[in-house]
Amino acid sequence: MDVGISPESIAQVKNADIISIISAYVSLRKRGRNFIGLCPFHSEKTPSFTVSQEKKIWHCFGCHESGDLISFIQKVDNVIFTDAIRIIAEKSGIDIIEDQTKYVSKDNILIKNLQTILEKAKSTYQENLLVSQISINYLKKIRNINDDSIKAFELGFSPQNINLLAELKKTNSQHDDLIKSGLFYESHQGQLKDRFSGRLIFPILDYRGRTVGFGGRVIDDSNAPKYVNSEENILFNKRQLLYGLNIAKNSIKKQNKAFLMEGYLDVIVAHQFGFTNSIAVLGTALTANHLQLLKRFTDNIYLAFDSDDAGKKALERSYDILRKNKFNAYVISLSEKDPADFLIKYGADKFNHLIENAQPIFWFYYQLLKERTQLDSIENKSNLIDQVLKILKDENNQIIVEHYIHKISTDLNISPELILAKFSKTLYNNSVKFEKPSLDKKNKLEKAEEFIIYNMLMDLKVRQDVINKLNEESIFVEFNSVFKLLKNTNKTGTDLLDDIKDKELKNNLGRIIINNNNSITENDILNEINNNINAIRMEKDKQKIESIKLKLKTIEEKGNDDEIILLLKQIQTLKKRIGG
Ligand SMILES: [Zn+2]
Repeated sequence: MDVGISPESIAQVKNADIISIISAYVSLRKRGRNFIGLCPFHSEKTPSFTVSQEKKIWHCFGCHESGDLISFIQKVDNVIFTDAIRIIAEKSGIDIIEDQTKYVSKDNILIKNLQTILEKAKSTYQENLLVSQISINYLKKIRNINDDSIKAFELGFSPQNINLLAELKKTNSQHDDLIKSGLFYESHQGQLKDRFSGRLIFPILDYRGRTVGFGGRVIDDSNAPKYVNSEENILFNKRQLLYGLNIAKNSIKKQNKAFLMEGYLDVIVAHQFGFTNSIAVLGTALTANHLQLLKRFTDNIYLAFDSDDAGKKALERSYDILRKNKFNAYVISLSEKDPADFLIKYGADKFNHLIENAQPIFWFYYQLLKERTQLDSIENKSNLIDQVLKILKDENNQIIVEHYIHKISTDLNISPELILAKFSKTLYNNSVKFEKPSLDKKNKLEKAEEFIIYNMLMDLKVRQDVINKLNEESIFVEFNSVFKLLKNTNKTGTDLLDDIKDKELKNNLGRIIINNNNSITENDILNEINNNINAIRMEKDKQKIESIKLKLKTIEEKGNDDEIILLLKQIQTLKKRIGG
C-alpha cells in the first residue's frame, strides 16, 4: 500500500519559495515584479516563462501553461503529485509527515506497482548474468567491460529458459500490471512471453534513478533485431529518457558539458575510461524533451555519434532541434565505428584529442552541404551560401556570424562583402515575412472582465461585493463558470486553481493572476469594478439591440405586427438603459 502525505505537510510545501526551487531547473532573472526565463516546456529563444514569487504561481506566455510549484515539479520531472511534494520537501528542508489514510490516485498506484515489477525484474536479470558464462565472456572479453561497470550500470541477462513471470508473481503483482510493465508480449495462445529472452539486459533509469525500463541486446549473430526496448508505458518514454543521465548528471553539471552517444555500450565504455559525463539516446532521434531535460545540467553538448552514414544523418537531424534549444553543440569525428571501439583501440588520451578538435556543429553542417554540392558553377555556390545563411540568421552573436562568413568566403573563394550583402537580404526577408501580430489586440471589454475576475480571485471582500452586485446576472463572456465557482469557495489565488478541472480555463486564470497587479486602494478597486460592470452591461445591451434589429428584418417581410411592436419596444428599453 502506498502512503499519502498529511495536509499540513502539503500546505508547508505549497509555501516553499517558488523562485529558489524553479531556479534549479530554469535560469531566472528578475523583471519588474516577476522573474522570467526560458520555458522548460516548449522551445523558445526569448523568455516568456514567468514566475511570481509573492503569488507563488508560474505562467508561460508562449505555450500558455500555468500552475503552482507542485504542478511545475510534476510536469518538469514527470512525477505524480505525492512525489512532487517529496521532491520539493527535500529541496527545501521540510520534514514530510505521512498520512496512511490519504486517498491515493490510480496512476500513483500503477506507478508504484510497475516499479515493484521492474525492480524485481532487474534483480532477477542481474542474478542470471552472474551465472551465464557466455554473457560474462561477451561483456568482458569482446566488449572490454569490467566488473565495476557491470555493477554501476546494473547489467543483467535474460536466459532462454528464464521463468521471469513466475519470479514476478512472487511480488503478488496483478496480471494487468504485468502486461503494462512493458516486459512481455502476448503469444498467439495468449501467454505472456519475456520480450528480452536470450538477451543482455541494460536497465534504463530516469535521471532521478528510478528503473523505468530495459534495453536488451542479442549476444549471438542471430537474425533477431540487435536491440529491443521495453514497451512504452506511463514510466517508459524514449523521447524523454537519456541513458546514463542518472549516473552522469553530476559530472555533466560540474564539467558543464555532456557527451551524447548512440549506444548503451558506448556510454558504459566511456564512463570506464573516465568520461563520466557521457549519455545516450535510446535508439530514437534527439527530441526537444531530451534537450530540455539536459538543459538543467548544461548548455554544452558534444555529439559522438557513430561514424557511418546513419550516424551522420542523425547528426544532421539533431542540428535543428539543438539550435532551437540554444545548445552549443560540437561534433566529435571518429575514425572507428563508434566511441566504444575508438576508446578500446586508442584509449582516453586520443579521445581527449578528438574532443579538443571537435567541430562546431554549424561547420560540420556546412561541410555536409558542401559535399552534396557540385562547386563547378557560381549558381551552385550561390545556392549553397543561401542554405547556409538561412541557418546563420538565427545566430544571435554577431561575432560568430562574421567569423563564419569569413571562413566560408575563404573556403569558397567568394568575397566576404558579397556574402554579407546576401546575409542582410536574408535577414530583411525574414523579418518582413514573420512579423509578429500585435500583442495588444485585447479589447477593452476583455480587459474589464479580467480586472473584475482578477480582483475577485485575490480578495474575498471584493469578491463578496461583486457577488452582491451581480447576484444571478451573467455578464461575462469568458468567465461565467469562474464566477459561479467563486460564489461557492473561500479559496484565493493559486489555491483556487487546484479546484479547476478545465485545463484551458486554469491556464487562462494563471495568466490573469500573473499579469495583473494592483497598486490602488480597495475603494478604488471597487469603483473601477463598478465602472467595468457598467461598461460590460452597456456593451451587452448594444449587442442585444443589434440582434433584435436583425430579427426585425426577417419578420418584417411576414408582417406580424404584434411581434414587430414588441421588438421595437424592447429596443427602446435597451436604448434608454444605455442612455442612447
Ligand atoms: Zn512555455
